[in-house]
Amino acid sequence: MIQFWEKRLQTGIVTEHKEYDERMKALRRELKDAVKKKFAGSLAIRMVDSGSCNACEAECNALSNPYYDLERLGIAFVASPRHADVMLLSGVLTFNMLPHVLDAYAQIPAPKWVITLGDCPVMQAPFEKGFAIEGPAGEHLPIAHHIPGCPPSPDAIIEGLLTFLGKI
Ligand code: SF4
Repeated sequence: MIQFWEKRLQTGIVTEHKEYDERMKALRRELKDAVKKKFAGSLAIRMVDSGSCNACEAECNALSNPYYDLERLGIAFVASPRHADVMLLSGVLTFNMLPHVLDAYAQIPAPKWVITLGDCPVMQAPFEKGFAIEGPAGEHLPIAHHIPGCPPSPDAIIEGLLTFLGKI
């Protein structure tokens, strides 16, 4: 029993990632400042899935969990494009979704921006065209920024948002 507790105390908490935590703390501070500066502390994002496998959405869902907690930094995912500043577009832009994506974009009040999320919306030849696919998204919408990855991890999405905020 004593051996167990000795080992337990020597090992510590193995699920901690101190370097990652420190990096996230710094990124969160930067993001909060950037949102405050560019969007008066409140950035609303309308996520649109134009034909994704849902992994990009799953990574975005993680941004709302208590660890990343983007809402505390002033970033909210909203249900209506009319409440949004930015469209976050994932998926391959299917034939069926194209009119709805364009409709959602039209309903976002100006000034507005589109960020593509993951490799699907910017897919290159020969996969971007097919009977069911109308990509790449850049042919239909003005893309302000692209966040690469398949899927991009939550920290990559945060870095992507920071880069976007630095550009506008
Ligand atoms: S980029 Fe990858 S993870 Fe994201 S929707 Fe496309 S296939 Fe899925």
